[in-house]
Amino acid sequence: MIGSVVVVGASLAGMHAAHTLRAEGYGGGITVVDADGHLPYDKPPLSKQVLAGDWDVDRITLPAAREDLGLDYRLGRRAMGLDLADRFVRLDGGERVGFDGLVLAAGASARWLPGAPMLGGVHVVRSLDDCLGLREALDAGPARVVVIGAGFIGAEVAATCRGRGLEVTLLEAAATPLERALGPVIGGVMADLHRDHGVDLRLGVGVAGLDGTDRVEAVRLDDGSVIPAEVVVVGIGVTPNTGWLEGSGLELDDGVVTDDTLCAAPAVVAAGDIARWPSARYGERLRVEHWETAIQMGEAAARRLLADHDGRPVESFDPVPWFWSDQYDRKVQLAGRSSASDDLEIVVGSLEERRFVALYGRGGRVVGVLGMNRPRHVMALRELVTDGVDWPEGLARARAMA
Ligand SMILES: Cc1cc2nc3c(=O)[nH]c(=O)nc-3n(C[C@H](O)[C@H](O)[C@H](O)COP(=O)(O)OP(=O)(O)OC[C@H]3O[C@@H](n4cnc5c(N)ncnc54)[C@H](O)[C@@H]3O)c2cc1C
Repeated sequence: MIGSVVVVGASLAGMHAAHTLRAEGYGGGITVVDADGHLPYDKPPLSKQVLAGDWDVDRITLPAAREDLGLDYRLGRRAMGLDLADRFVRLDGGERVGFDGLVLAAGASARWLPGAPMLGGVHVVRSLDDCLGLREALDAGPARVVVIGAGFIGAEVAATCRGRGLEVTLLEAAATPLERALGPVIGGVMADLHRDHGVDLRLGVGVAGLDGTDRVEAVRLDDGSVIPAEVVVVGIGVTPNTGWLEGSGLELDDGVVTDDTLCAAPAVVAAGDIARWPSARYGERLRVEHWETAIQMGEAAARRLLADHDGRPVESFDPVPWFWSDQYDRKVQLAGRSSASDDLEIVVGSLEERRFVALYGRGGRVVGVLGMNRPRHVMALRELVTDGVDWPEGLARARAMA
């Protein structure tokens, strides 16, 4: 039996792992380490309701953090190293925390603009402190907010800033927002959505640099134009938090590499945004940055850890990813994995009314179902992706629902 588990990362994946360990009857010690000093919280509202000022911070505390799970919290403490041979995690200050089982759930950090100076007024949105810092800057009523990157986080931040009545310029290097994930057609719908809400959307432009001495004053584009800005938000993706694991002996390659059961080494599992596992369903290693996947991984990783000790069957982890994004009054939901080169058919509603369901197809099969303000349809059609239904059959079944 394992006597002690250490969980590094007290966010979605780590807290679900801790909860599952208890739910499965594990009664030993669980030490939960997190560099963030706040009680564990949920992240999606950080670009939406909390940034808008509509929700109090108390509201985003994770349910598992409200329960008495008998956890030994080390909040505000950073894991600095891992010794696999002697099985301990080294914290800042030098303390060693030994383990019989380790859950790596340290997530990812927002990427900074390459080469850009650390000027006042430039923000990212990953942690609660990031969000509160940006919210305070927005409360001051800046003349213009420039958002760099029209991925999901940047697009949501732009929408929230418009909701607060601020002038917003949204910059994107690709030809449409979210093009790589959703393709040019749906990207075009997202572009029109932002423009119709008054966003100054600039597509196909790169950022050459930030101007300012202590505080940012303007964003310089590579086409030579300059956009004055009091507040800049950088939303250009994330990097998995694996720096502290370098030299530990774990395989690191855009995340902690695991087997198909989320095991990274004997007695070590990884879950959430930090983990990269081989998916038989997609025939490649995946690292997914979605809320639901982080929960599923936390739960599966905890069960995997216990399986070593109680002999329960080990499950292969291979779910269909699920994602949503809220922008203005539109909810986008995606089941599966879409890409710009997939076939695309609108099967319910229309792009013009911005209330539709689209199917993505690849290799003769349905690989994604995307809905805009069609939650009931997306839920019902999710099984087309789960079952890998043939493209013609998937189209017929989806159209029958219209
Ligand atoms: C602003 C925002 C909005 C989002 N909106 C959506 C959405 O609408 N829909 C959706 O599906 N997904 C959304 N997501 C994604 C989703 O929230 C993430 O996939 C999820 O939070 C990942 O959870 P995690 O536990 O793996 O990692 P994280 O949430 O990144 O947590 C990792 C934790 O590890 C800690 N940590 C890191 N390094 C160390 C270290 N060395 N020592 C100790 N602690 C460490 C960090 O402080 C952090 O608390 C959003 C994410 C963000 C940031």
